[in-house]
Amino acid sequence: MTSLRGVKLFLLDLDGVVIEGSTPIKGAAEAIELIRSTGASVMFPTNNTTRSRVELAGLLKNAGIDAPIEDLITTAYCAAQYAVSKGWKRVYLIGERGLHEECVAAGLNVVDEDDEACDGVMVGLDRAFTYKKLAAALKFLQHGATFVATNTDSTLPTETGEIPGAAAMVAGLEACSKEKPTIVLGKPNTHLLELAMERSDQPLNACCVVGDRPETDIAMARNAGCLSILVLTGVATQESREAYPPQHRPDLIFPTLNEVARQYACLRKK
Ligand SMILES: [Mg+2]
Repeated sequence: MTSLRGVKLFLLDLDGVVIEGSTPIKGAAEAIELIRSTGASVMFPTNNTTRSRVELAGLLKNAGIDAPIEDLITTAYCAAQYAVSKGWKRVYLIGERGLHEECVAAGLNVVDEDDEACDGVMVGLDRAFTYKKLAAALKFLQHGATFVATNTDSTLPTETGEIPGAAAMVAGLEACSKEKPTIVLGKPNTHLLELAMERSDQPLNACCVVGDRPETDIAMARNAGCLSILVLTGVATQESREAYPPQHRPDLIFPTLNEVARQYACLRKK
């Protein structure tokens, strides 16, 4: 773990740090520009699988945030890369357009319910989840496919309250298959962070995770062993480190991403 001064790669969670829904968080766009102006890099690891990186970059651009596609590390993208790294050709998806588009973009063949076999079943949030999809996923596992979960977020926040997250679909397949996923890609696991490090060519001691959720963002940083910063513009509201359990305890707490950027820029000047 390093000090804020030694950071070269900022891994910023999106929801609750940079944006809220599709609205930018005040000062976030300026903060990102300030960090970049020092020569440091910014990447965006997110558990979201519903949007492709192309779509997400567009949404961020409309919110005034400049985020090139290659800097967006979504679990949908991570899932597609994982399948490719395993040499898989055919996958079955429980998920939305984002997951589908990333798999197709990676050159994978997405099979449908009527196919007989595939290499992997990838499960993420699917707001059109059906019994038919569950039955197909079970069939593929029974025929030897590997069970992959994009993430196990129990719920996700929307403008009108919480809705069921990917964990509900993963649990459905676990219940009927009596299998656990071979891998869970999203935070608090470290796959997104590792993919970002690989893409940016920065070592772990030059990375810093900035997030709003102790149990995912901060836990991912702690699991990897890099600097973690909690900001209070999203889920977490406690200003004292001791308010958080040891395994989710951030190294530093700032009120906003903008404050992180300002302090970082000052330290770099010294
Ligand atoms: Mg968040």
